[in-house]
Order: sequence, then C-alpha cells, then structure tokens
Amino acid sequence: MIRITDKSLCCGCTACVNACPVQCIVMRRDREGFDYPVANPDICINCGKCETVCPVLNPRSESAPLAAFAARSEADMEGCSSGGLFPMLAGKFIQEGGVVYGAAFMEDMTVGHVDVTDVDGLERLKGSKYVQSDPYAVFEEVRDLLKDGGHVLFAGTPCQIAGLHDFLGERKEGLITVDIACHGVPAPGLWEKYVSALERRFGGRLRDVSFRDSSKSWRHYGVKFDIQTEDGLYSRHVSNMSDPYMALFLQDMTLRPSCYSCPARKGRSGSDITLGDLWNVSEAAPEFDDDRGTSLVLVNTAVGQRLFESLVKDGLRVLAVDKETAVKRNSGFAADVKIPEKREEFFKGIHSSKDIIGYMNSYVVCKSMVRIIYEKVHTFMSGIKKKIIR
Ligand SMILES: Cc1cc2nc3c(=O)[nH]c(=O)nc-3n(C[C@H](O)[C@H](O)[C@H](O)COP(=O)(O)OP(=O)(O)OC[C@H]3O[C@@H](n4cnc5c(N)ncnc54)[C@H](O)[C@@H]3O)c2cc1C
Repeated sequence: MIRITDKSLCCGCTACVNACPVQCIVMRRDREGFDYPVANPDICINCGKCETVCPVLNPRSESAPLAAFAARSEADMEGCSSGGLFPMLAGKFIQEGGVVYGAAFMEDMTVGHVDVTDVDGLERLKGSKYVQSDPYAVFEEVRDLLKDGGHVLFAGTPCQIAGLHDFLGERKEGLITVDIACHGVPAPGLWEKYVSALERRFGGRLRDVSFRDSSKSWRHYGVKFDIQTEDGLYSRHVSNMSDPYMALFLQDMTLRPSCYSCPARKGRSGSDITLGDLWNVSEAAPEFDDDRGTSLVLVNTAVGQRLFESLVKDGLRVLAVDKETAVKRNSGFAADVKIPEKREEFFKGIHSSKDIIGYMNSYVVCKSMVRIIYEKVHTFMSGIKKKIIR
C-alpha cells in the first residue's frame, strides 16, 4: 500500500490512484498546496499495484535523444511559450484522426489535463501553465481509447509521461507521448490563493493568464492577466520578475518537493519527443536568434522521429543542433535545481499571511535581478557578436 512518508518521493502523477483495482486511493492536498495519494487501509487489498506503477519507486535509466533540433512553426506561434512546436505536432495528429491530451486552464483557473479532438480546441492547450496540472481524470480514458484501437498523443511533464507509461504497462500501440522540458511545477494550492488575492485586488474574475507573454520580447517575456470587471475585460501586463507568483517560480521557491530530485527528466520519462525553450539560441542556432521564440526539440524514439519528419515535410523550419550546447543555461534539461534555503519558511507562512501578494513579494530576492542583468548582458553581447560577424 502506498504510504507517503517522504514527500520528495511522490511526483503526484496519479498513476497509483488510477491503477488501484479497489479505488482505495484518493489525492489529498497538503499544507503547501500539493496533492498526494492517501490510501484507505480498510479497503486496500494489498495487491501492490500502486507501488508497481510508481515512477519514483521504479525509475527508468537516463537515455540520450536520437537527435536535437532548433525549430519554429512560423504559422502558429501566438500563445505558445517557445517555437510553437506543440500545436503543430498536435494539429497534425488530430487531422490524422487522433485525440490529443494536454494541460488547460479550467473555468475556475485551476489546471488539469483535458482531451482535444478538433484543431480549434488546441488553443486551450497552448502555452505553459506554471501550475502542477491534475491528470487524474484522463489516464483511464487514454487506456480505454487505446484498447479500442484509437490514436492518442499525450503531452505533459516528464513525471506525468512516466506515470502514464507505468499505468498503461507494456507500450500501447497508437500512443505518442510528448514531454515538455521541466525544472519543476508550482503548488496548485498556492496558485489558487494567488488568483483569489488578484481578483480581490482588481475587483473582477481572472479569465486568462499568459505566463509567457512574448509580444514585446521572447527572452524578456512578461506575464499577462485578463481580468473581467463590471466595466469590461481588462489586461494587465507586467514583467516576469514584477509578478511575485512568476518570480518565485523562477527562483525555484514554489516547486513540488520531488522536483528537486526529479525521477523522470533526462530521457527517463520514456517520451517520444521532448519540447523545450532554446534559451541558448545565440550559440546553438544563431540563425534563429531574433527574439521571436525558438523551440528545442529532442527526438527520443523512432516513433517520435517519424512524426517529427512529417512536420519537416510540411515546412517546419528546423536546424540540427548540438544537444550539449543547446541545453546550456536551461535548468529544464540540466541537473536538478537546488532547494532554496527559505523554501520551508516560505510555505509555513502562506496560511497566516493576510496579504498573500505582499507576503510573496517579500520573498522575491535580488538573485533574480542578477539573473535579469545576466540575461540582458548576454543578449547585448550576442547582438555585438552578430554585428561583428556581419
Ligand atoms: C511547469 C513548467 C516548467 C517548465 N520548465 C522549463 C524549463 O526549465 N526549460 C525549458 O526549456 N522549458 C520549460 N518548460 C516548457 C516550455 O516553457 C514550453 O512549454 C515548451 O517548450 C513547449 O513550447 P511550445 O512553444 O512548443 O508549445 P506551447 O504551446 O507553449 O506548449 C503547450 C504544451 O505544454 C503543455 N503544458 C503546459 N502547461 C503544462 C503543465 N502545467 N503541466 C503539463 N503540461 C503542460 C501543454 O499540455 C501543451 O502540451 C516548462 C513548462 C512548464 C509547464
């Protein structure tokens, strides 16, 4: 029976909840705002299934990708975080009769996995939602679709992909998995508190968020909140470091305990394709370095390679890159991020604070300013380098 005594050993993928034959496991929220499985010993039959499908208890070995590419889908980048690869992949899959699963905002601004069967529906999945998504409701749906001979593309964090594979058992015909590069996921409970505080402050309902608003610059993206007030829809743009929720995410303060020792990154999720941001574009693929957003695509399997090649035939702009150069300065691919010294103290105070926005702001530290300055200098220097080369 699954019993979580060390929270760093549960990634919250929900494979155990879905696999339990007697439905004795439920997800319960903890004080930090993350969900953990809790088994009822009175119902448990000790079959051990929950443990056999756990990607933390049964980690895969690291594996290198078959190939790495810089890529951009010029046609459909709006609303995406990097080069818009995801909607292009998913669109192609749907046109060929498949069903796509990915993370979307719900009506109440919580984040969960949903199915999409038409290309227009992909709008909901576009863009990074920096909140742990709840995939619980869809694992069984995916299994049933595959059993009936359907085709499924499932996108999510590496731990969700690993959990889905473990839940499904031996590889299922018709499934393609795409993981996003991920350095960690913030607490849904904290996000919900933050949304309520924002709504109180601005006197309206939060209708949409873009955590990666790159309308002015991809590298120095901002955060955009759409708030519905009695007077109409109001958009609030701020730089990423001026928003405390985003700043604390970038400082790795609000991540799930398991993210600091991720069991599924570095090719361990078993995904066919990995999508990330090519932050080191100036070095890895200078011809893409125009601050409009470039994806780093890791092709991990032959299945992934076939899908990716079909996109290239359809006109995807792509360049083979050296993987080691491409992943430099990207914590989504490199070593696990470190637990910030004040993380425990921060989470202890989130319930007692009357002004959660002010409280969060008080933990935004200048390390992040250093990071901004570093990035600005880096962009400036690569600009100079380009001018000299020309
Ligand atoms: C929590 C989180 C941390 C990340 N950290 C890094 C990082 O350190 N380095 C890096 O290079 N890239 C990171 N990314 C991924 C990156 O920001 C882009 O999402 C990715 O490059 C795909 O971009 P795109 O332009 O192709 O498509 P987009 O349209 O931007 O991507 C949409 C895809 O992301 C999925 N997605 C969005 N939010 C979530 C979520 N909360 N949980 C699961 N899946 C989600 C959707 O299902 C969809 O498949 C992170 C993303 C998230 C959500």
